[in-house]
Amino acid sequence: MAEAIPALEIRNLHKRYGDLEVLKGVSLTAHDGDVISILGSSGSGKSTFLRCINLLENPHEGEILLAGEALRLKRDKSGELVAADAGQINRMRSKLGFVFQNFNLWPHMSVLDNIIEAPRRVLGQSRAEAVETAEALLAKVGIADKRHAYPNQLSGGQQQRAAIARTLAMQPRVILFDEPTSALDPEMVQEVLAVIRSLAEEGRTMLLVTHELNFAKQVSSEVVFLHQGLVEEQGTPAQVFDNPRSARCQQFMSSHR
Ligand code: ADP
Ligand code: MG
Repeated sequence: MAEAIPALEIRNLHKRYGDLEVLKGVSLTAHDGDVISILGSSGSGKSTFLRCINLLENPHEGEILLAGEALRLKRDKSGELVAADAGQINRMRSKLGFVFQNFNLWPHMSVLDNIIEAPRRVLGQSRAEAVETAEALLAKVGIADKRHAYPNQLSGGQQQRAAIARTLAMQPRVILFDEPTSALDPEMVQEVLAVIRSLAEEGRTMLLVTHELNFAKQVSSEVVFLHQGLVEEQGTPAQVFDNPRSARCQQFMSSHR
């Protein structure tokens, strides 16, 4: 049987800020249904890695392939790689969901309007169609009763669940989560993790940066440990959590539990 085309493939990603080399050649392959947790100390390059995947940050080297399609890149005057084709990057971004630590809901829009905006504008859905999908997604994340509320009327956990519903409304091929529970009060962490767990159980393809190590161990198909911009250790949860080979990964695991 032929090898399946990965949902997402990142090859040899490099990124620097001035003289600081933040990513020194990171590669990662996510097949459909993979849940890949990305762990590492603060400053190890986790957010930069996720942000380079959809060009929220511009890498200096690397290749990004979504469902086998290579993102076309060109080098700008500063030496960074930028999108060579605006149509292509917009299409690819719409297939890459991004859930941020701080939710990033539009404050001047109701929860419902937050969710239907991109499906209407980018996917060309009718209002009725977008609303029907949004209401189903709000029910799925457990906040159907909040559809007319504004973000500042919601708890952090409710805002993050609304942000996840907004991401799902775009029918992403891959969802990138950057510390989705780090800004939440402790009592709200579990409600958001429960939603992410249900997505994992549905077979969604996800990259998850998190400090919730027990959760990562339970839901991940693969774990990547970053250290100073390089993949220091990579494997199944059993390997990386319970039997890490590298001393740095061992130290990280023992200091985070
Ligand atoms: P992590 O998410 O693993 O904590 P980051 O990817 O946010 O790490 O940051 C990696 C390194 O890059 C850190 O040293 C951070 O200070 C630096 N960095 C991140 N973003 C910028 C930026 N916009 N300008 C300069 N340095 C940055
Ligand atoms: Mg970060």
